[in-house]
Amino acid sequence: MRERILVVEDEEKLARFLELELQHEGYEVEKRLDGRRALETALAEDFDLILLDVMLPGLNGMEVLRRLRQEKTTPVILLTARDSVMDKVAGLDAGAVDYVTKPFAIEELLARIRVSIKLRRPAAAAAPAASSEGVWTWGSLVLDENRRRVTYAGETVSLTNREFLMLKTLLANKDLVLSRDTLLEKVCGYDYMGETNIVDVYIRHIRAKIDDVYGIKMLQTVRGVGYVIRSE
Ligand code: CA
Repeated sequence: MRERILVVEDEEKLARFLELELQHEGYEVEKRLDGRRALETALAEDFDLILLDVMLPGLNGMEVLRRLRQEKTTPVILLTARDSVMDKVAGLDAGAVDYVTKPFAIEELLARIRVSIKLRRPAAAAAPAASSEGVWTWGSLVLDENRRRVTYAGETVSLTNREFLMLKTLLANKDLVLSRDTLLEKVCGYDYMGETNIVDVYIRHIRAKIDDVYGIKMLQTVRGVGYVIRSE
């Protein structure tokens, strides 16, 4: 089945160019020129990836992303005209998997699209323990990717987007020790330039919200290697 990409870009020439390039790569493409219609489409239909311009008429890209994240986990790559660190951080925190600064080389964008789609696939595929697609459990803990929800014995656990992504990655790869680099790549994107100890920070937050609260030892540290969630 062909992968579907939603292109959201108000510069018509660029939108058309992206559509042609992506079709040439074998993707099925829908395009929208304003934020409001893009959000409607993204909520109503399922895409493997959304390319989302930040500066859009109607509803800007950040707002589209925030509202989309309340309902769905579709991977989003932000297209930002401004090379602003704030935008990137805000975008990643709001749940984008990556961003590309305009003007960009099409080859670079295509490479990032492939990575973003691939990152989503193996996690879904390597989930023999999933009771149904997109749902992982560990004892009384349930992570539901489709609803973007984590519960422990029915009680909602509130996680940020990156904490959620990290927990999902560990649950989807149960019994595999994942290195900090691997986790960093899954959670922050492959070209993340910051400190790798950010992984320890997220792990600490998840432990504080789950392990400590419910008195369990779900997240295990493997010294000198990384982290693992073992089968119960
Ligand atoms: Ca624009």
